[in-house]
Amino acid sequence: MPPSVHYWNYPTEIFCGAEALHGLAQRCALLGMRKPLLVTDPGMLALEPYALVSAHLQQSRQEHGVFSDLASNPSLEDVQRGVLAFHAGGHDSLIALGGGSAMDAAKGIALLAVAPEGLQHFEWSRVIEHYPSLADFPRLQLPTLIALPTTAGTGSELGREAVLTDSQQQIKRVISHPGMLPACVILDPLLTRSLPPALTAATGMDALTHHIEAFCSPLYHPMSSGVAVEGIRLVQQHLLQAVTNSQDLNAREGMLVASAMAAVAFQKGLGGVHALAHPLGARYHRHHGLLNAILLPYVLVANRSAIAQDIARLARYLQLPRADFQGFLDWLLALRAELGIPHCLADIGLDSGDAEWVGAQALADISSSDTNARPLSAADYSQIFRNAVHGVLPRAPA
Ligand SMILES: [Zn+2]
Repeated sequence: MPPSVHYWNYPTEIFCGAEALHGLAQRCALLGMRKPLLVTDPGMLALEPYALVSAHLQQSRQEHGVFSDLASNPSLEDVQRGVLAFHAGGHDSLIALGGGSAMDAAKGIALLAVAPEGLQHFEWSRVIEHYPSLADFPRLQLPTLIALPTTAGTGSELGREAVLTDSQQQIKRVISHPGMLPACVILDPLLTRSLPPALTAATGMDALTHHIEAFCSPLYHPMSSGVAVEGIRLVQQHLLQAVTNSQDLNAREGMLVASAMAAVAFQKGLGGVHALAHPLGARYHRHHGLLNAILLPYVLVANRSAIAQDIARLARYLQLPRADFQGFLDWLLALRAELGIPHCLADIGLDSGDAEWVGAQALADISSSDTNARPLSAADYSQIFRNAVHGVLPRAPA
């Protein structure tokens, strides 16, 4: 494709609102799903979202099976076991219920069920070379997937990627295929109201980071830019309320919408926050959203020369008291503080001893670093990491 030609794609149907989950069995019927396999993580079996969905499926006499033999970061082996369960149970389709882990596992099962040559064939670093756009991927008829997120953060319900752990190599592999995109997404705030405040805050900050990084990405995708701007406003309106009052279904719904929109926005790309958070998460096992929340201001300051004008426009849309880069940064820092997010990585036990390794890994994370607002070197990333460890955040002149 010539570099002047762009490819944009928005295909999923979404049902949004309290009790939307009660439409699940009807969607299964309309999508021709005879006997879906419900994929969820084992902890979910004792929680309200599973009780609600399971009761609904039983009352609707929707035949289904359950697969929950997953790690919190699903591995390739988890997916292989899921495929065995899928075939052994005579399933023809999938329902994913959970956060990113259940979604990723269900997507991996859907792909591996019809691609016996293996998931490694669809690893992101390989597919971007072989398939320049989604339209170029091999045509595979994946089992139909309906996704019901129980967190508002990853946006995985509207993504075509799955992050799976390769436990032999001790690394995370990003698998991609357009057929892994759920056919239907049900955003029901009843499924997120039991999420504890700290997780609501961390996952919500992940969604905010997706929007901000997408908005700042240099790729040309005005549709996604527009989605990002309104998504950031929804986080501004709803995140603190969802954290302080978990039963506020309006705030919960607003965050589910913001999170799903973020996955649409980041078709435009992510950036340096994710490039740093990925290796830090793999090495130090801290929560992805929490790492993003801490790193975000430090990366924004490092990108300031490239993004100041766009951020000022965003600040005007958000009706911030000071509509420029520093005003936006002040808003972000205040929100983080109100949410109880630590200001620096030292507060969660990290030190800067590995700064050179972190910088090299961040640069190598091409799925995020290539679309950072401006090109950063490994040394730049190392310095941002050191600043984030020690809380060094220079202010702009007034
Ligand atoms: Zn993220």
